[in-house]
Amino acid sequence: AVPGGSSNLKQVKLDRESELRIEVSDEPLRLRVVNGTAEIFGAELPPEIWRTFPPRLKFAVFTWYGATIEMDGVTETDYTADETPMVSYVNVHAILDARRRFAKASTSTDSDSPQGPRVIVVGPTDSGKSTLTKMLISWAAKQGWKPTFVDLDVGQGSITIPGSIAATPIEMPLDPVEGFPLDMALVYYYGHTTPANNVELYKTMVKELAQVLERQFLGNPESRAAGMVINTMGWIDGIGYELLLHAIETFNASVVLVLGQEKLFSMLKDVLKSKSNVDVVKLHKSGGVVARNRDYRKVARSSRIQEYFYGLSKELSPYANTSSFSDVQVFRIGGGPQAPRSALPIGSDPVSNPLRVTPVNIEERDVLHSILAVSYAEEPDQIVSSNVSGFVYVTEVDVLRKKITYLAPSPGALPSKILVAGSLTWLESH
Ligand code: ATP
Repeated sequence: AVPGGSSNLKQVKLDRESELRIEVSDEPLRLRVVNGTAEIFGAELPPEIWRTFPPRLKFAVFTWYGATIEMDGVTETDYTADETPMVSYVNVHAILDARRRFAKASTSTDSDSPQGPRVIVVGPTDSGKSTLTKMLISWAAKQGWKPTFVDLDVGQGSITIPGSIAATPIEMPLDPVEGFPLDMALVYYYGHTTPANNVELYKTMVKELAQVLERQFLGNPESRAAGMVINTMGWIDGIGYELLLHAIETFNASVVLVLGQEKLFSMLKDVLKSKSNVDVVKLHKSGGVVARNRDYRKVARSSRIQEYFYGLSKELSPYANTSSFSDVQVFRIGGGPQAPRSALPIGSDPVSNPLRVTPVNIEERDVLHSILAVSYAEEPDQIVSSNVSGFVYVTEVDVLRKKITYLAPSPGALPSKILVAGSLTWLESH
């Protein structure tokens, strides 16, 4: 409510199996459930409690049995829809749930014993992949499972900043505002917002991540039975399609959920038909999914980075640190942008070695305004196969004094002096 001004309270009554779709305006919106039960992308809203949703967020409040919702604020749009694919989504959940129970009931620990579902969600951009992933994760967590969420979409970054691929165990339904927790995440820094920049590196990191999860599952029957839900990027033709197949194979996916595209569904169904242990399932895209253009995505990426350092509502203050050039080592993986083989003249070689690690000369200042990952590697040749502990943002390079200044989310010395650069930069705007 505007202090001293009129409040914009509005009540909406939702029938069973319908949803209120909201695009928040440039001002935050407050919302609560006054009657009945409702959920946001699989996470139930506690009754009566006001929640504040940040500007420009797009979401839906869905109810299975009917609810009354109260909103306080002005939205960009809000409307009610009673045609949703939610029943088909929850049916998928029920099947996954049965498989988890089956896996849990089998006490054997050998690696051939039944294990929980490994679900991969694929589809074109803006088909609602991330949203479906969230629902499946939250519904599973609500029933006490601890599924692993895997994010292979380097374009947006739902666990941490864009340019990363990451995984994290989920123990509770997701918070509709905060999203995925970061504190237990396993993160690899690929460094670019599309796999096209360095396809080999992307595949290598996907493989690393899969191998680490595979090892963790062996020692953890609970995670193994809960399985994983993997979110992918919207690039589904050409190399993008090959990368999807690569991910399906690398993670040994057992369920492929194809959202909103007949062609992709039939292609995948066809190539995977020889594998009796993989189910390919077609699902409808929700009419509520909001298409986002290039500019919107760019802004969204930038706010993800801002969120990493400053928190969702700027409640955190990052620490500015200064180091001597000699106290840090910055590396880059691969050459410049790599053209796909098909784009090169026949017979010519794409970049010599896409996994080569080369030191970056900080004095050349091209790391200024870059996002650098702090690697767990102890030696440069371990960089490609190492995960990262977090990120810093280079705010100043002082060539005369040989000092580099950066923002970090926590104070004190960096956990490692090996830093990794990609092509991800950021211009702070506040
Ligand atoms: P990408 O192309 O980035 O991979 P995606 O396929 O994962 O996109 P989502 O991120 O799931 O698509 O959805 C796009 C946007 O639409 C998001 O902002 C999401 O919150 C919103 N959205 C999805 N479903 C609904 C709905 N039923 N009602 C309102 N908004 C929705």
